[in-house]
Amino acid sequence: MAAAAAGASSSLTSPATEEELTLTVKWAGKEYTVRVCADDSVAELKRRICQLTNVLPKRQKLLYPKIGSKLSDDSLILSTLPLKSSLKMTMIGTVEDDIIVDQVDSPEIVDDFEIGQDEVVDIKDKEVNKQKLKRRIDQYKIELRNPCRKGKKLLVLDIDYTLFDHRSTAENSLQLMRPYLHEFLTAAYAEYDIIIWSATSMKWVELKMGQLGVLSNPNYKITALLDHLAMITVQSDSRGIFDCKPLGLIWAHFPEFYNAKNTIMFDDLRRNFVMNPQNGLTIKPFRKAHENRDTDRELVKLTQYLLAIADLDDISVLDHKKWESYDEVANIKRRPFKDPIWDARHFFMFLNYYYSYYQYGISLK
Ligand SMILES: [Mg+2]
Repeated sequence: MAAAAAGASSSLTSPATEEELTLTVKWAGKEYTVRVCADDSVAELKRRICQLTNVLPKRQKLLYPKIGSKLSDDSLILSTLPLKSSLKMTMIGTVEDDIIVDQVDSPEIVDDFEIGQDEVVDIKDKEVNKQKLKRRIDQYKIELRNPCRKGKKLLVLDIDYTLFDHRSTAENSLQLMRPYLHEFLTAAYAEYDIIIWSATSMKWVELKMGQLGVLSNPNYKITALLDHLAMITVQSDSRGIFDCKPLGLIWAHFPEFYNAKNTIMFDDLRRNFVMNPQNGLTIKPFRKAHENRDTDRELVKLTQYLLAIADLDDISVLDHKKWESYDEVANIKRRPFKDPIWDARHFFMFLNYYYSYYQYGISLK
């Protein structure tokens, strides 16, 4: 008995129980078969149901005999619930009719939180999370909109609050677009393939990027779009359960193009990087578009950073937290001289630097 109890409780935190649960979910007069792992959370179950029904997780209400309202707690681990494959689950929920109204009206508050360095390492290296990533790699298909380009680095971009203020209202989506978006994507495209990854549904991602003209701009091409189904749920001791965007999923699908050394991801939520902390840059959120659209220049500054680091062999050795004070001059020494245009650009940069120093006695830094 004691051993059985210990076994049950250890499944909460430690190496994945490989046990699979097969559940039947009834919705809108049809039955769906959903396979999940015993160590998955309710949030993950809802994501799998979303894959089959297109009902977003936040719109699902799950009913199951004898367990009351427990399935409304997304953080619960399925192995702690008395689920049986002989019993059927009922889902109540509707596919969103007007996705824009839905997004704006949703009261969900997303606050960023810091996770301690030790804990980040712990989450990234945990066997249970590696297993989750492995399963996600097997399940999630990435559809290429444009071919990967040899020799390019990879830029992965979040949408909400990174490229777009999804909480403000406007007559036209373009009013909520972060300033300089197209200029930024055009400049980045010279050195980086671009993948957009949002924690919302693919329908929303396509709609939003389409409205902003990102999918049809002649000056750059988007390699792929990823949605919330590509994310995994991890557990931290201090912050409980949350979702994140594991870049390992992309690296596993396109190993000949992208890896930990040549990828950078911009997101306003640091926790999204928890599986690959050296590849994330926490972007200042773009909120209150109407107030800020005349002054927000984050994408201009970030373009300079992206281009300044584009020739480094390994960009994951940089501390992206300090991107604003990145010293390109200091990094010139590390670079081989190979590009005449680049050399000329930096020759004048040096000249300007020493001239300013000579004339005003100030340093550019
Ligand atoms: Mg965001």
